[in-house]
Amino acid sequence: MYTVVLATGNKGKVKELSSLLAEHEINVVPQSDFNVPDVPETGTTFVENAIIKARHAAKITGLPAIADDSGLEVDALNGAPGVYSARYAGEGATDNDNTEKLLHALADMPDLERTARFHCVLVYMKHESDPTPIICHGVWEGSITREKHGEQGFGYDPVFWQADKKMTSAELPRDIKNALSHRGKALQLLVEKLANSPLTTKEQG
Ligand code: IMP
Repeated sequence: MYTVVLATGNKGKVKELSSLLAEHEINVVPQSDFNVPDVPETGTTFVENAIIKARHAAKITGLPAIADDSGLEVDALNGAPGVYSARYAGEGATDNDNTEKLLHALADMPDLERTARFHCVLVYMKHESDPTPIICHGVWEGSITREKHGEQGFGYDPVFWQADKKMTSAELPRDIKNALSHRGKALQLLVEKLANSPLTTKEQG
């Protein structure tokens, strides 16, 4: 069994990744098991922030590490909220604060100019100074509604419209969201890469 630390405090993410990687004899341990403190996400790209988090967890635990960073890119806002998605309406903002701010910012935007997408970058680093991290990027296209719809999910889900399904991602059943989403796609790519990596098929020294 090969052990990897996951740089997140989110139990849902740990569970999802653990079950996918267990099939490949990879054991995922949350960084909280090692008392890894949060690190400031000072990057201006999803890739930088994911690398910052993975490097920090690898440094403190001495184990290979996986980290993710995700967010929403809105074309009419030059890519905002982007890496600031969780704190778009300020430090400590709730999902509702962020979503309201987004609806307000797009209030005068015509339907065709409300295009947006979620991004998720997942990074795997063998050790803290790994010069060639594995980087996987999942993208989920959609557009921003004028009102909130649906109760499921989190973040911007109530305003993220899927035209082909005629519903927001907060109305999509969870298994369908997981299969379509930026996170689902990035996870799938990472699982494939790790399963085929010679590193994870060797005993850990
Ligand atoms: P994190 O990097 O996964 O913590 O995501 C950062 C922020 O992006 C979240 O706080 C949400 O505001 C937004 N976000 C990321 N993924 C999703 C999603 O699947 N649905 C809704 N919002 C999301």
